[in-house]
Amino acid sequence: MEVKPFQVSVREIFDGYLNDEESGQVVAFGGKLNVRPAYQREFVYNAEQQEAVMHTILNDFPLNVIYWSDNGDGTYEMIDGQQRTLSFCEWLNNGFSIFANPNAPKMPYYAHTSEVIKERVLNYKLMVYICKGTDVEKLEWFKVINIAGEKLNDQELRNAVYTGQWLADAKQFFSKRNCIAYKLGEKYLTGSPIRQEYLESVLYWISSAIGLTIEELMARHQGDASATPLKDYYRGMINWIEQTFPNYRKLMRGIEWGLLFNDFGFRTYNPEELEKQISELLLDEDVTRQKGIYEYVLSGKTREKALSIRQFSENDRRRMYERQQGICPLCEKEGRGVKLELSEMHADHKIPWSRGGHTTLENGWLLCRRHNLEKSDK
Ligand SMILES: [Zn+2]
Repeated sequence: MEVKPFQVSVREIFDGYLNDEESGQVVAFGGKLNVRPAYQREFVYNAEQQEAVMHTILNDFPLNVIYWSDNGDGTYEMIDGQQRTLSFCEWLNNGFSIFANPNAPKMPYYAHTSEVIKERVLNYKLMVYICKGTDVEKLEWFKVINIAGEKLNDQELRNAVYTGQWLADAKQFFSKRNCIAYKLGEKYLTGSPIRQEYLESVLYWISSAIGLTIEELMARHQGDASATPLKDYYRGMINWIEQTFPNYRKLMRGIEWGLLFNDFGFRTYNPEELEKQISELLLDEDVTRQKGIYEYVLSGKTREKALSIRQFSENDRRRMYERQQGICPLCEKEGRGVKLELSEMHADHKIPWSRGGHTTLENGWLLCRRHNLEKSDK
């Protein structure tokens, strides 16, 4: 990893500044600097922060260090410093008008009708660090500088590293307001496309299916010409959810659908039968994790853990202890019941939940460690 400090004036950065509202593209530094690379979330004008930036510059105080990434072909991408850069560039373009905060103190020197003031801003020098390295090195480094700057989340950081046609194509589908992925799957996914949470989910699901990390998957496909397989996977998954569970419930939002699709997408189900099981399970008071119902029914009722069946409470345990006088009933049956401490005993369903037993005092007892293990082995 190579990190080079570099002093640059506002004039040099403002040279060729272009902010295309339509496409969201922003370039500066003679067209060589991508101020708003595709992975950066939408810049939110924060009038107070912008005024603070201009205040700093006009007082000739130092701004925090800015980071660019060297693309290796004479062009650069803004890694950290987008807000600051846009603040002074927009000020030079529009002057006062962008400072929309009505409560902000009106500082007379913002009206850059004065060429002297404008010159002062243009001559201001700031410190830029330019980094060049492998993808993995960059990612590590971005994580570190990200602590201080305009914060990017994990997927935004990954997008900063694994750039290319593949990612651009994927983002077209997964990462725009009202993108196709959002329109198709908004009922099933949580998070925001713009903050890259849809993209992150689909990458996570696919990489899990083949035993890779998201970074490994992105590195492997970075050079691909299109992200069609990602889109196909996603469409296939949504299609599968809709056909398997035609009756939509709000609780279906935020389930890790891709993981279920990976495990069960190839099986055939009877949607009516599944629906019957779901509505029964929703009425079961011992099911404390209702989102897990979908995994449970898809697994053919083998993944009981997904439901987080209600445990016996501490009060229940103490009542059972009194009732049994501290003796394991199964040991007693074997003719060797001895009094144990409460802490040595384990609450257990006499009839397991899966066979219709509930988490009630009547259906509970305390067993010794050995008998509890023997029972749960079955
Ligand atoms: Zn026992």
